[in-house]
Amino acid sequence: MQQADVVIVGAGHGGAQVALMLRNQGFEGTVLMIGREPEAPYERPPLSKEYLAREKTFERLYIRPPQFWADKAVTLMLGTEVTAVDAATKVLTLSDGNAVQYGKLVWATGGDPRKLSCAGADLAGVHGIRTRADVDRLMGELDGGARRAVVIGGGYIGLEAAAVLTKLDCHVTLLEALPRVLARVAGEDLSAFYEAEHRAHGVDLHTGAMVDCLEGNGGKVTGVRMADGSVLPAEIVIVGIGIIPAIAPLLLAGAAGGNGVDVDEFCRTNLPDVFAIGDCAAHASDFAEGAVIRLESVQNANDMGTTVAKAICGDLHPYKATPWFWSNQYDLRLQTVGLSTGHDQTVLRGDPATRSFSVVYLKAGRVIALDCVNMVKDYVGGRKLVEARATPDIDRLADAATPLKELIPA
Ligand SMILES: Cc1cc2nc3c(=O)[nH]c(=O)nc-3n(C[C@H](O)[C@H](O)[C@H](O)COP(=O)(O)OP(=O)(O)OC[C@H]3O[C@@H](n4cnc5c(N)ncnc54)[C@H](O)[C@@H]3O)c2cc1C
Repeated sequence: MQQADVVIVGAGHGGAQVALMLRNQGFEGTVLMIGREPEAPYERPPLSKEYLAREKTFERLYIRPPQFWADKAVTLMLGTEVTAVDAATKVLTLSDGNAVQYGKLVWATGGDPRKLSCAGADLAGVHGIRTRADVDRLMGELDGGARRAVVIGGGYIGLEAAAVLTKLDCHVTLLEALPRVLARVAGEDLSAFYEAEHRAHGVDLHTGAMVDCLEGNGGKVTGVRMADGSVLPAEIVIVGIGIIPAIAPLLLAGAAGGNGVDVDEFCRTNLPDVFAIGDCAAHASDFAEGAVIRLESVQNANDMGTTVAKAICGDLHPYKATPWFWSNQYDLRLQTVGLSTGHDQTVLRGDPATRSFSVVYLKAGRVIALDCVNMVKDYVGGRKLVEARATPDIDRLADAATPLKELIPA
């Protein structure tokens, strides 16, 4: 049976960071990374941005050139899924029937796109956007002439896909079930701004839109039937309604969790020598007043990966990194810092009509998060306000001419 001192399950952002940081920390043991996708670790964010827009080839998405991993004595086992974990014997069962023994196990499996639960969800032409294979399939249909797209879900991935497809001359309809886009992650000002931008770029955007089912012909999607009985014709349907953490084998092995594997401040699960990181890890966050949350961001995957690599090397540092995120739509670069959930006040800096502004989120007078659109300076200064839990003067905060760095407490 193959063995490794550290086995990383999932060759994505978090898994790659663990392997990188182990070697950076001087770890000399054996490291094996097992990944379900056939590719060496690559950046996922461009899948709904530059890769779909064909502005970047896949080779430019690699986190490190494939040869790098061999040079660092990190063994990659790709195209292989871990199907079962035995936490007592520390043995993993693989999809090819083989088994692997681990010393320490890092579960870094991300999640799978949530599917629609209605009829037609599995028709050809219906896509999630999570992997290179998803996007290659979608691009193949665009190459075949498909131009009529319906995007279901007004979160970041749905909005980014809508922006790219519009640029590629598709007729795009975007359907969001809630009363506004980005409702789960941002305040009303930001939602209103992005709704207006997408409409101005020709997206037929509907909020409060309830899908009944997908219609098809010969196994291929032809349209989206709405709850009111109307049908939107579609050659392509993109479903961006969130992910389900890929944690079934670990839960079956006895790990605590539900919507994600529960981890402590060092990303340890309740199973001995088993860590979990990234999109699939549920942790108590200081930025959410101690609530247990899952974050889906490159920052979170990387910083948790670093926490685990250090912990394995005996250097225990609790995970306390400031959450940040970005999204590119059209010529707009959104940068987010902190978590806005639970805010009781928002302050607008600048005029959204100029397409360069920030929204500051406060709770009980403290800055807890910012959304900055084409406003890099606010993002940099705002990050310090969030980290300091600052309570700035609201009039000065609202004055876009006042640099945020002047409001950072001494
Ligand atoms: C289209 C898109 C756009 C995004 N844009 C942004 C952005 O702009 N900014 C940002 O911060 N974040 C963005 N994200 C989120 C970011 O990519 C994720 O938060 C990040 O990839 C999480 O890293 P991870 O290591 O937890 O999971 P992943 O990177 O998803 O890696 C998990 C890997 O594990 C594999 N796996 C799953 N189960 C098993 C198993 N049982 N055995 C073996 N392998 C398994 C999966 O196939 C996958 O390859 C985006 C995500 C997507 C999909």
